[in-house]
Parts: sequence; C-alpha cells; structure tokens
Amino acid sequence: MSRAKRIVICGGGAIGVAIAYFLSRRGARPVVIERHAVAGAASGKSGGFLALDWCRGSALDRLARRSFELHAGLAAELNNPWLYRRLATYGGYAVENDTARATSQRPWLSAAVAITGRLGSPQTTALVEPRAFTIELMRAAQAHGAELRRGTVVELARRASGAASRAVGGVVLQSGEVVEGDAVVIAMGPWSMLATRWLPLPAVFGYKGHSLVFETGEALPAEALFLEYQEASGEILAPELFPRADGTTWVCAISSTGPLPIDPADVAPDEGAHARLEAMCRNISPALAGAPIVARQACFRPVTEDGLPLIGRVPGVEGAYVATGHSVWGMLNAPATGEAMTELILDGAAHHVDLAPFAPGRLARLDPARLRGA
Ligand SMILES: Cc1cc2nc3c(=O)[nH]c(=O)nc-3n(C[C@H](O)[C@H](O)[C@H](O)COP(=O)(O)OP(=O)(O)OC[C@H]3O[C@@H](n4cnc5c(N)ncnc54)[C@H](O)[C@@H]3O)c2cc1C
Repeated sequence: MSRAKRIVICGGGAIGVAIAYFLSRRGARPVVIERHAVAGAASGKSGGFLALDWCRGSALDRLARRSFELHAGLAAELNNPWLYRRLATYGGYAVENDTARATSQRPWLSAAVAITGRLGSPQTTALVEPRAFTIELMRAAQAHGAELRRGTVVELARRASGAASRAVGGVVLQSGEVVEGDAVVIAMGPWSMLATRWLPLPAVFGYKGHSLVFETGEALPAEALFLEYQEASGEILAPELFPRADGTTWVCAISSTGPLPIDPADVAPDEGAHARLEAMCRNISPALAGAPIVARQACFRPVTEDGLPLIGRVPGVEGAYVATGHSVWGMLNAPATGEAMTELILDGAAHHVDLAPFAPGRLARLDPARLRGA
C-alpha cells in the first residue's frame, strides 16, 4: 500500500483550511502552518455572505455554484457549528440625513433608507459566521488526521535529490525548523505576495476593509442588505448588512488601499474609519443605533491583477501549488477551491471545476526585486 501524501499548506485562512479538510477526507496528511491564528485575518472578519449565481457571466461562475452547493452539504454534514443560514437579500439606497424616503417598510430601518428590490432568495443567498466556519472546518480536518502547526513560513525547502533540484519538498519556518512534505500549497491570502520571492508567481495585493459587529438580538429579520449610501459630504459608500443566526449583525462599508503589514497580527483600522461607519449605521437603522458594538474590525482581502484567484500548480516548479487571490468571494469559494486543489494534488486534475481560468501562469510573474524592503 502506498503511504499517504503529506501536503504542507502555508496559511490557516478559509482557503488553506478548506484544502486541508478535503485532503484529509481523501486520506492524505495535510499540515497547516499558520503564523498568527486560524481565521485571524480576513477569513475570521469577513461578512460570510454566500451567493449561488452572483458570479454569473464571469470565469468564477462554475466555482461559485459548486461552492454554494458544498457549503450546504458541509453545514449539514458537520452539524452546522458556523450558523449557516439561507436568507433573502435586498438592495436599496439611502442619503445621510434625508428622511423623506421611508419606503423600506421595515421598522428596523430608518426613513433614510429606500429598498429598491430583491437581489436574492433563500434558494440563492446564504450566510455563515466566517470565523466559526474556518476554525470548525480546521477541527474537522484534524479529526480526519490533518495537523495544525503554529509557525511563520520564511522559505521553501528543496527536495534532497541533488542540489540542483528545483522540486519543492517542504517549507522552512522562522525558527529554522524544516517541515517536509510531498507538496506545498501557498494559501497565505494577501501575504502570498511574499511567496513571489520563492516561486515564479504573479503579484497578490491586499485591499483593506473595515467592519462592525452589533449585538442586535432579534431586532433584525433574516434579510441581508446591500445599499448605496450617500454621506452628507457627497461621498458614496456601499454598506452591506448581514444579520447572523447568533443575534449579531455584521456591517461593512469602508475600504482603503492602506499598506499591508508584514505580520498579520499588526493589521489595524484606518484612523476614523470605524467612527464614520458607526455614524452611517446610526443613520440607516434605529436598531443598530441602539445596539452594543461587539467588534470593530479591519482586514485585507487578497486581490490579483485581473481580479481572478490563482488556483493551481506553480508553473515549472514540481511540488508547488498556490490558492489565493479570492478577493470578495473567498468565503463563498473556499469549499470548491479546497475540493479542486485536493483533486489536482492527489489525482493530477480537478474534476468538478475547470481550473484553467485560474492558472497562475496566465499573469506575468512579479520580479522579486520589487519586493525589496518588504
Ligand atoms: C471586509 C471584507 C468582507 C468580506 N466579505 C466576504 C463575504 O461576505 N463573502 C465572501 O465570500 N468573501 C468575503 N470576503 C473575502 C474573504 O474574506 C477572503 O477572500 C478570504 O478570507 C481569503 O481567505 P484566505 O485563506 O485566502 O486568506 P486569509 O484569511 O488572509 O488567511 C491567510 C492566512 O495566512 C497566514 N499567514 C500569512 N503569512 C504567513 C506565513 N509567512 N506563514 C504562515 N502563515 C501565514 C495569515 O496569518 C492568515 O491567517 C470579505 C473580505 C473583506 C476584507
């Protein structure tokens, strides 16, 4: 009998964890190396909104549809510790201090908000609590033999078969320890940019988002909301409001291109961003205005130059894989990415989705000299 493959996964966000879960279900031995905390970055702070068909017409469509289906299956199979819920989704607009609209017919929304239409039904939109999703999926992977290690990956280890070998045989941690594996997956979210020093990979950028979590109890119904909000200054924000099954409501609206710190533990909000978000929430909803805020968060989503993720083999380097750059759909697309990467690594090709549009080689590699000083 052949021995189980040991796959080293760099990064314990939703993407790395989903890959570990599907690998573990196939009898492989994934090892997740996480620098800060599982779900400690965007995967624990995101909205957790899922949609079946919102990627229609783009290369992401098949991945998203497959993932939407897998989310429902995973929640049922693992007893839903991450509060997966189906819900209807609406769109609308609001103008700060303009209370003439009052068309929302929802007592939890202020008269500044006008609801213009339904964007999704419980058949097509859903929500998870993303931190619990990521942490519990990691636990489920561990129950199937996956390992979780705390450590900072600083380099790749080459296979012992000759000094000239470019084949990857593991990773080197900051402590100097080498963690060996048959293959290595880069899944470090926006920090995957650092891997362009080790591998011929295109650039991955971080785009910062701020969010608040309110303790709203039962004040809000199971309806997600996407709004266009005009501040008194004339600036337009795009708030998203997601009421979760645990009685909290997650709200975001403010993004920026602030620099990504090297250490994920050092991510901090932009000055004034949360105060601005709080003012907006007070204007939109009396229920939010009166609710305690239980978290003020900032995180970076990973973005590529063409907006599509990098999912596949690193060209020209045996044993090296990448899965990152999922932008605003990383929570949605984590399960199908985990499944596809597992098929690619263990079977040589993905069966459920076509990974060709996400091939890392489609974009020019970043010259590592541009990273100097990072
Ligand atoms: C405000 C906001 C709202 C969002 N809302 C949604 C949503 O509603 N629905 C949706 O589908 N998506 C959403 N997203 C997108 C989603 O959060 C991301 O696409 C997803 O979390 C990316 O997951 P990841 O595993 O690639 O990266 P991350 O979550 O960033 O995980 C990467 C991990 O790698 C670790 N790491 C970094 N460097 C090293 C190293 N050297 N060694 C070891 N480990 C390392 C980090 O500590 C981190 O834990 C949102 C994003 C933002 C910012």
